[in-house]
Parts: sequence; structure tokens; C-alpha cells
Amino acid sequence: MAEKLAPREKGFSEWYVDLVQKAKLADYSDVKGCMVIRPNGYAIWENMQRVLDKMFKDLGHKNAYFPLLIPESYLKKEAEHVEGFNPQLAVVTHAGGAKLEEPYVIRPTSETIINRSFAKWIQSYRDLPLLINQWANVMRWEMRTRLFLRTTEFLWQEGHTCHETEADAEKETLQMLEVYRTFAEDYMAMPVMTGRKSESERFAGALRTYSIEAMMQDKKALQAGTSHNLGQNFAKAFDTQFQGRDGKQHHVWQTSWGVSTRLIGGLIMTHSDDAGLIVPPRLAPVHVVVIPISGKASDAEKAQVLEKSHALAADLKKSGLNVVVDDDDTKSPGFKYNEHELSGTCLRVELGPKDLAKGTCVMVRRDARQKEFIPLEQAVAKAQEMLDAMQKALFEKAKAFREANTFEVNSYEEMKEKADAGFLLAHWNLDPKVEARIKEETGLTTRNRPFALAQEPGKCVVTGEPSPGRIVFSKAY
Ligand code: AMP
Repeated sequence: MAEKLAPREKGFSEWYVDLVQKAKLADYSDVKGCMVIRPNGYAIWENMQRVLDKMFKDLGHKNAYFPLLIPESYLKKEAEHVEGFNPQLAVVTHAGGAKLEEPYVIRPTSETIINRSFAKWIQSYRDLPLLINQWANVMRWEMRTRLFLRTTEFLWQEGHTCHETEADAEKETLQMLEVYRTFAEDYMAMPVMTGRKSESERFAGALRTYSIEAMMQDKKALQAGTSHNLGQNFAKAFDTQFQGRDGKQHHVWQTSWGVSTRLIGGLIMTHSDDAGLIVPPRLAPVHVVVIPISGKASDAEKAQVLEKSHALAADLKKSGLNVVVDDDDTKSPGFKYNEHELSGTCLRVELGPKDLAKGTCVMVRRDARQKEFIPLEQAVAKAQEMLDAMQKALFEKAKAFREANTFEVNSYEEMKEKADAGFLLAHWNLDPKVEARIKEETGLTTRNRPFALAQEPGKCVVTGEPSPGRIVFSKAY
């Protein structure tokens, strides 16, 4: 039998870390906070990249690449940016056997080095909007790391755009947030709340930060992506200017937005169970495994089963699915079932001599884990149908879970009582000191002010002072 996972009930964190390793998604490395992404994990990342990349390009963004190392002086040009990122920087001081005249920072994000180029590329309003995306690794010296969710080096995409007006930049910021929402919900089957972050959670150097926030199965929040309106802060620091329609020089208005390999952690924590990984079909590296079953069959029957299994796999592949045939006869069928449940194959097809005689096969959906007997000639259509149903079911289940664990709270007492209950919608007076106190005393942080939540004035749960509307508090990753 494949090794059993630590169950979720006994400890969600232990289960998560166990799953990531046993499903061969990622491994620890000897470099502090850095992980090795194994082929099973990387395949999910590649699928995420493929979908997101197309979504970005469909909106006119182009990919480019900028250096990993950033001269320290660049970071210092934007005061708030350097202050925010300083504690997390890794710095290269020596190279080629000598001390460098100016240290290089390993990019924690690329606004500064990209602006150096933007300042050269942009002359007039005709060069705008400039819509660039970079797929890259970045490094932030994180203190408490966890595989995929928070690592010191992570893979991500960072979009960087320049616009003529503040309104154009705001439109882009919100458009990309909506791209992230669509990706999270329609592909990852992970419901998210879109909304604005509080001042203290704003990106260092931005005017406004928006996020998508998801609820994991342990009811904690995961900030799954962010989109920033940078205003003219970096443009002013780097003199990124254009000649406007009025003939005068203006600083550009900018945005940046990013999602990372953290999304893989979010996907795992949203859907998976005690048997292992569950991947929504639209991002699954393996949709179907066909398992020939021929334990006590004659050689002739075995050959027939094998032939039919490969023929069925070929038909499924032709319909666009990723399919494997697991015909390794050194392993028992039960062992294979466990293995494929652990690694997150969406559909299992079992095919034995008795099935063949009846002209049927058995199909089992990874999330529902119930056997269905399907006539072979309907197998391809039925597989597609079951995968579509699975994609929908995963989203609906996660959404119902979030809804069941979202509460309005109207006093600080109630907030403390419900600190582990999920998303708490509470009034707060916007004071960062009160926000910090709540975090200190309860572990709850503000997630975002969801666009979907009607803003009606009320009274801060801590001070009783006026609040413009409820914001979401939750424990978070
Ligand atoms: P930021 O540039 O800080 O807005 O980060 C963009 C996105 O990257 C965040 O919304 C997270 O989803 C993700 N992210 C930030 N820090 C980490 C980290 N240490 N490990 C993995 N993902 C991260």
C-alpha cells in the first residue's frame, strides 16, 4: 500500500507538508527557506503559467526579461519601497573574487530596475500604454517559510505597466485583479474575494493595493494575488516621463501585479483530502489513468485487456486529455489506486476481462471516489462530462465552505470568540494602531475590503468610533 497521509483532522499543517512531499510536489533544500519543485509540482505551475500567459497576452501585455541583480542605489531611489523591502533583501557584495564597488540586491520585485528601462523606452504619449510582464524568480528573506506558500525564493509573474492618466492606471489595476479572480475561480476552482487592502498592508511604494483572498480548508485566509496602483511614485524616482498631448512633460502612471507559486499551495489547501492531492481538471497534469486489471486472467485475456486499455487511452488523448496507462504489473491495482489518488489524477478508469466481456469500464472521479460503470463506446464523452462536473463541484464545494464560515461580528468579544471560525466581517475605524492591536491580541489580520460587500457605516468593534463599512478579518497564511 502507498504510505498514508497524516489526516487533516489531526493537524492541517502536518497534513499539508506531508502531502506536498508524498505527492512529490516539492522538497526541502539545504538553502534556507528555498524549495525544490519536483516534476509533479512543476507541471501544475506550467499549466498555471500557460493559462495566465494567454490571459495577459490577450489583453495586450508582452513578456520581457530584466536582470536578477539590482544595483542597491536603484532601490534607495524610492524611499518607502526600500524601507519596506530592506529587512527582506539578500545582497551580493562580492563577485569575481573581489568586493563589488556597489552591492547588488537580488530582486525582491523589479519595479526599480524596470523603471530604468521604462525611462529610456518612453518618450511620448504614443508609447503608452506600455504593458510588460516578466516571468521570473525573486528572493525575499522570509522568516517563517512553508513549502509553496511562503519561500525565500519563489517563482512568479510580475506585470508592470505605464499609462497616460491616473484613471487609466486604476483601470488596469482593477482589470488585472479581475484576471486573477477569473483564473482563481474558473481554473483553480478556488473562490476568492476581490477588494482593497488596508493602508498597513499596502505594497511598499504603491498608492493602493488590491488583492484576491481565498479561504483554505482550515478556515485561514490566503492572499493569492495582488494588484497595485503605483501612482507616479516610481516614475518620479526614476524620471519616467512622456511628452503629453499638451506638448508638456508628464510622469507616467504605473501599475504592478503578481501571482506566484503560492497559488499551488492554495490549490492544494482548497481541494485536497486525506487520500492526497485533488487538482481541478482545467489545471491537471494528468486527467485520466487507465489501469488494466488482469490478476487471474489468462495470457490471452491479459493481452486483450492491455490492448483495449491502450486503445481507450489513445481515444481519450485524441479528445484533448492528458492520459497515462499504468500497466506496471509489479504493482497491485489497489496500490495503483492509492498512488494516483495521492498524486491527484482526476479520473481513474479500471478495465478488466469481465468489463471487456460486458463492453464496459469502471470510472472513478478523484473527488467523489464513487464507481460508475460506463459502456466503452461512451467512455470518451463520459470522461469529458465527469471532468466538467468535477471542475464545477470543486468550486461549488469550496464556495459553500467559505459561505458557511463567514460571519458578521459586532463586538470585540465576539471577534475574539470567533477568531478561528473563518472570515469575520467587522467594523474598524481605519486606525493602523487598532489593526495592530487586534492582530497582537487575536492573531486576526485585515484581509481586504471586498467589492462585493456593501459598505454601510457603523462603529469600530474595538473603539466604538465611526467605521466606513465592514472589512474582512481572518487568520492568514
Ligand atoms: P507583492 O509583490 O508583495 O504584492 O507579492 C505578489 C504576490 O506574490 C503576493 O500576492 C503573494 O501571492 C506572492 N508572494 C509574496 N511573497 C511570497 C513568498 N515569500 N512566497 C511565495 N509567494 C509570495
